[in-house]
Parts: sequence; structure tokens; C-alpha cells
Amino acid sequence: MSRFLSGRFSAFEAYTPGEQPRDKKYIKLNTNESPYPPSEKVLERISKEEVMALNLYPDPTGRALKEKLAALYGVEPEQVFLANGSDEILNFAFLAFCDAQNGAVFPDISYGFYPVYAKLYRIPFEEIPLKEDFSIDFREYCGQNRMVVIANPNAPTGMTLSLGQIEEIVTSNPGHVVLIDEAYVDFGGESCIGLTKKYDNLLVVQTFSKSRSMAGARLGFGIANAELIADLEKIKYSTNPYNINRLTLAAGEAAAESDAYYKENAKKIIETREKTARALKELGLTVLPSKANFIFAGKGRLDGGSMYRELKARGILVRHFEKERIRDFVRISIGTPEQMEALVSSVREILAE
Ligand SMILES: *Cc1c(COP(=O)(O)O)cnc(C)c1O
Repeated sequence: MSRFLSGRFSAFEAYTPGEQPRDKKYIKLNTNESPYPPSEKVLERISKEEVMALNLYPDPTGRALKEKLAALYGVEPEQVFLANGSDEILNFAFLAFCDAQNGAVFPDISYGFYPVYAKLYRIPFEEIPLKEDFSIDFREYCGQNRMVVIANPNAPTGMTLSLGQIEEIVTSNPGHVVLIDEAYVDFGGESCIGLTKKYDNLLVVQTFSKSRSMAGARLGFGIANAELIADLEKIKYSTNPYNINRLTLAAGEAAAESDAYYKENAKKIIETREKTARALKELGLTVLPSKANFIFAGKGRLDGGSMYRELKARGILVRHFEKERIRDFVRISIGTPEQMEALVSSVREILAE
């Protein structure tokens, strides 16, 4: 820390992303990326002409991509917000909808970025503990009268709330934004985008990083009532109007035209997830019921930390969280069938030792 950093950040702890080591080639199952490449359409779209146009700023409105997403999800283009990864939408939402008087609430075990944004903007927040079985009790989020943030499916558990439960949360917090982070919804969850037509306080956030194989391009989108989207646009035009670069916008348009390809990939990932979960259960591990592209697995007699280290020594990266209640688990992203077979063999080997 330099002597120039503002005092308000001196006790501030930044978010730690999953490791991206360069020392050797790992089977990378630690950051929930897709094991499959972007669609052919995306590859074709990033043409020489597209690169040659990089001397020009991108369209700050992202209109063409908004129209495609609106058509895909049956909403109006004015209901779509585009951002540099869905992280940026989370960032803008905490900035736009909360302050010292208007706090936020989210589960204690969820996406680790939520408390970081709350602290960054000095927003009072509460973390509600998950139930004993790691589920979210939706009733605890009703009538909160502050911003509610829930990942559905939740991370790192992969567990879901139903549409009816989300609707109860939305209707019982009418004066406050309910942000549903659907980063993993394409792997078996049910999107609540349809509810944005009925409720003006629901903000649904999705990303191209997981099911659409574009984590490296940084593209996320939000869907909500047009007025709420206009609030987010105000923040964007007050910080970085060109938040999405030209190549990413083009890739996003092509990806939005490749829905069938990504659905097929999601189907493969779901099949691989179920097969991997069965194999790990047969080895005696506890595996939470996941509707995401990862599984959360643990075993009493081997703590998550040593499982993580033993797997890394065998060239397989998974994610371990040094946090109460979940330190006996590891989060394993779903890769190709071959990668998951390698994972299961390594786990078997480790447990036999
Ligand atoms: C991966 C992830 C994000 C961030 O995605 P980007 O679009 O890559 O910024 C947001 N929320 C959750 C729950 C995630 O797991």
C-alpha cells in the first residue's frame, strides 16, 4: 500500500479471483469457465475488418446486441443493459441503488464479490446464513426493505430457488431492488427474466462468461424494467461510456445468434456434471445437488484444503474457500468428460492414500 491511497481504503480487502497459474498446464476446474470454445459464428465475426475498425470507438449504446438479446429473451431493447462482465453490473447496482441509509442483504455463503462491493461503497450489509443443508430460506429475504442480492443458482453450492420463491421476495420488497444473479442459470435453473415485465424492482443479471464460452471477452447483461435500466445507464455514462470494446460487442452479437450451439454445450455439461456427481458419491463424498456448471463436494475425513493441494500436485486445479462451514468442500468446475474422468481417478487415488 502506498502513502497515496485514500484512508477510506486502508482496511479494505479486495476480491481474490480464482488462480490462473502459468507455471504448467493444468486441468483447469477452478473458475467455472466453459471447456468448449466459442461458436463458429463468433470466430468468423472476429474478422480482419473487425480488427481494422479498432481505430474507431465502439457503439456506446450497444444497440445491435441489445436488440438480439431482447429478441432472445422476449423483452424490449430498453430493458437490456450491457456491461464489461456481469461483475460490472453488480458494481453499478451497489453504487446506484444503495448508500449509507439504504443497505443490502445477501446470503453468507454466496458469490464473494457482494460484500466487497458493499464495503467499497461503505454500504451497510447483512449476510444471512444458509440453512444447515446449504439451502436459502426465501422467507428470510421477504420484507427486507433494502437491496436483496441472490445468486440463483447460488455459488458455490449450485442450489436453486424456485420462480415462485423469487416472486415472493420481489413482491415483498416493493421499494427496493431485488438483484437475481443468474450467472449459472443455463445449466438447469429457471430464469426469472419473465417477471421483469410485471415488477419494476427486479434486476436479472446474466453473463457470457460461463454458458457462452466468453469469459475472456468480458460481457455481461442485465434485464429489468426500462426505468431501472436507465438508472444503470446513468452510472455507466458517468464512469465509462465505452465500457464494452468493439471486438466483444461483435463477438456477443454472434454468440447471441448461436443459442442452439450453447444450449447443446450446456446439455453436455449437465450430463457430465451428473455423471461426475454420481462417481464422487460412490467414492463416499458428499455432493450438493447442483444446477450449475460446477459441483460442491466434500468429505469429512479429508479437509478441502488438502484435497485442493493433492489435486493441484496431480495437475488438477479446483477452488477451495478457507471459510467456516465450507472449508471441508472443494468447488469443481465441470470440464469435458475426459477431464472429469481424470479428476475422479485422482480423487480415488487421494482417498486411497
Ligand atoms: C462468474 C460469476 C459472475 C461474474 O461473471 P463475469 O460476467 O465474468 O463478470 C457473477 N456472479 C456469479 C455468481 C459468478 O459466479
